[in-house]
Amino acid sequence: MKKVISILLILMILSTSFASANTNATVRMVMDGRTMDFQTVQLKVDDKAVATDVPSVIHGSRTLVPIHVIRNMGITVEWKDATREVTIKTNDKTVVMKIDSPIATMNGEAIRLPSDVPPKIITYQNSGRTMVPIAFLREIGLIVNWNESTRTVSIEKDEPSEPIVTDPVVTKAVKDVVASFETGAPEIRIKTGEELAYTELKLDGPARLVLDFQDTKFDFTNKGKLQSNGTLQFNVNSSGINSVRASQFKADPFVTRVTVELDEMMPYQIYYDKNAGDMVIQLEHNTEKAFQYWATSKTASKLAFRSNETTEFDFSVSDFGRTLNVSVYKAYIELPILNLDIDDPLLETINIEESQNGDIYHIEIRLKEDINYQTNSPAGAGTKEFIIEFTTKQNNSIPLIVIDPGHGGTDPGATSPINSLMEKHVVLDISQKLNKLLTDAGFRTYMTRTADNAITLADRAGVANQLQGDLFVSVHANAAASSSANGIENLYYPSENNSNDARDNKKLAQVFQKEMVRMLGAHSRGIVPREQLYVIRETKMPAVLTEVGFLTNPEEAAKLATPEYRQLVAESIYQSILKYFEEIK
Ligand SMILES: [Zn+2]
Repeated sequence: MKKVISILLILMILSTSFASANTNATVRMVMDGRTMDFQTVQLKVDDKAVATDVPSVIHGSRTLVPIHVIRNMGITVEWKDATREVTIKTNDKTVVMKIDSPIATMNGEAIRLPSDVPPKIITYQNSGRTMVPIAFLREIGLIVNWNESTRTVSIEKDEPSEPIVTDPVVTKAVKDVVASFETGAPEIRIKTGEELAYTELKLDGPARLVLDFQDTKFDFTNKGKLQSNGTLQFNVNSSGINSVRASQFKADPFVTRVTVELDEMMPYQIYYDKNAGDMVIQLEHNTEKAFQYWATSKTASKLAFRSNETTEFDFSVSDFGRTLNVSVYKAYIELPILNLDIDDPLLETINIEESQNGDIYHIEIRLKEDINYQTNSPAGAGTKEFIIEFTTKQNNSIPLIVIDPGHGGTDPGATSPINSLMEKHVVLDISQKLNKLLTDAGFRTYMTRTADNAITLADRAGVANQLQGDLFVSVHANAAASSSANGIENLYYPSENNSNDARDNKKLAQVFQKEMVRMLGAHSRGIVPREQLYVIRETKMPAVLTEVGFLTNPEEAAKLATPEYRQLVAESIYQSILKYFEEIK
């Protein structure tokens, strides 16, 4: 049993998207020191399919379920390594079971487990779990049903039945996606039949416009248009559009993603065409336009002037770099006379006026504070296209660090079998110390929790995204079956394998690992890529989940019990953050 306990497993349970063993699959697992074949079964908790790292199985005439899944129902499950005991606390029952023993205690009284079947540890692909027969779950008051046709065990709480709330049936769907040039402007038409809510993202390298339709199924009328993996992909290679892709990006809840890959980001608008029943992305790829200003991302924009003939654009700067001045002869370009109060994140105003004798346009561009600009003007030479690109000065804005103390409230995380230290308390204290170091140094910070309360994983990542954090640090303490396991480990989402994710999480984890090991003088367990950890996968900023030591190791548990060592841990994380920002500068 390697890394038992909470964080991983709870994250895994909550993010049910990872592949679980299929119905009727046979898997080879280890029980009682022997490798055996087991028939897997599906598991539902509170009517939700749950995937576990060690699957539920049929063994002999019994169905065995990993006991930790009932944590999803708010039931406490604690593991004591030293005594190999599992303690389960419901509202009215406390049951203590021992691995391999048919005798347990319930509210202090010895009981025999149903049919004398003891809890067993089954190991599958390096994860070991305590498995109990479903009869035991009934014993502690849960309702357990077995559906033979789907081979599914479902576990529910025995509570006065509330009105049955079924999941709203998802009817919204993307039925087709086509490129169209009929209206003159290039368009991507998404056949939906109704107006749908979406979020939009602009990504670089290559330039992509990404629309995510919430609660929407990817349900193509003509499945023949789809690739063998069920996604849509076609090339346009026209009007600045390279290609279009669409797929079911997420299944729980449903999100359909449409990605338009462009030569470069260009102005666009998104609207619902009622007559056609289409959500339309209308792109404004118009190289004829004499004057265009558009945002290329949240922190960058572009201004283009295009003349009829080759001419010179005279460029100068005033007002300590806050105002840009462009002059061009009217004979070669037709510009609107305007007074644009843009007030976007980069520019304040653009003014275009004629010179007194009417020969020349004077263009004045007023920048916001801390904006970089760059022109493409070939010095002294004429051009038909004069472009100024604006970007925000990143290093001048104060980074926002989102600190995420793991677990909390009903979820204690790991509990030390040595000194009963709970992970939720340790990591909150370290996080608060880290928070102080960062705010004293002038960083902006946000803590996902500041007290002993339960926060959902979705909220942890969600708030970090909402606040547009620059860095996400989730703080955890480790646990293992073996008390000798010790050291520092930094987990990261391997964004290098996901073309839609431009973060460099690996680098961040490397910096953390190096600094923390150095400062704490701890054993280095290395950095660990993790595809399925919700908080570091769903955050949009570079993210790391740091494991600051083992509560199951006598030395580390003793150290983590002292405020001095927790301060040192906080300082090692703080130094890692400084190092990281230094390195990406
Ligand atoms: Zn944890």
